[in-house]
Amino acid sequence: MLEFHDVTKRYGNGKPAVNNLNLTIEKGEFVCFIGPSGCGKTTTMKMVNRLIDITEGAILVDGKNIMKQDPVELRRSIGYVIQQIGLMPHMTIRENIVLVGTLLKWTKEKKDERARELIKLVNLPEEYLEKYPHELSGGQQQRIGVLRALAVNPPLILMDEPFGALDPITRDALQEEFKKLQRELNKTIVFVTHDMDEALKLADRIVIMKDGEIVQVDTPEEILRNP
Ligand code: ADP
Ligand code: ADP
Repeated sequence: MLEFHDVTKRYGNGKPAVNNLNLTIEKGEFVCFIGPSGCGKTTTMKMVNRLIDITEGAILVDGKNIMKQDPVELRRSIGYVIQQIGLMPHMTIRENIVLVGTLLKWTKEKKDERARELIKLVNLPEEYLEKYPHELSGGQQQRIGVLRALAVNPPLILMDEPFGALDPITRDALQEEFKKLQRELNKTIVFVTHDMDEALKLADRIVIMKDGEIVQVDTPEEILRNP
């Protein structure tokens, strides 16, 4: 589903932010990238999305080189969730969830139907569709951010510290919900975190990065056995 072949990223002339990354992620897999701040996790996600250019090497999504694809098409096949989700404050939750539908010229009926389907996936009642972001808690807003990334039903979802800003109790609840959601939807998920407990809880495989390089790739069981 997602392949990295000798991928390197340099910002300017310095030391590479990501150095010679090689990894294959299978369809339906939940992979956590973990490592200290500055080790290159966000840079890796941004390259997959084509928010930044790759300096050397190639990334394939579903067997296709991303540099040979239309960036708009590519982003339609990738959901992206970040910590600062930035819901539109003057739009209702419904409008925020199906924001992409406006770009894709969905009819009002299609947008309404999709918003109702999506909000069922998280533990929020349909009435919330009429609310505005400031009426929701941080955890509820983050759920809406996840739904927004799911709106076009992308096979691949990238999540960059999506629950990082939440208090521990809300984060635990969201992790549980999200794991359940992932099993039901059978998506391929790449999840960035710096929290090993979160990675152990969620991942099928954990990718440990340090100074722009992958230093270990293992299942949570293997990591617990050989830390
Ligand atoms: P993270 O949460 O991944 O640690 P950072 O706080 O390091 O993110 O970076 C936040 C934003 O600032 C990112 O979009 C990143 O691309 C950008 N950034 C990080 N380091 C630099 C830098 N040295 N020069 C310019 N932009 C940077
Ligand atoms: P992480 O997500 O693991 O915190 P990043 O990918 O944000 O790491 O950053 C990796 C390295 O690249 C860091 O040294 C950071 O300062 C640098 N960096 C990130 N974004 C930029 C940027 N836009 N310009 C210059 N350097 C950057």
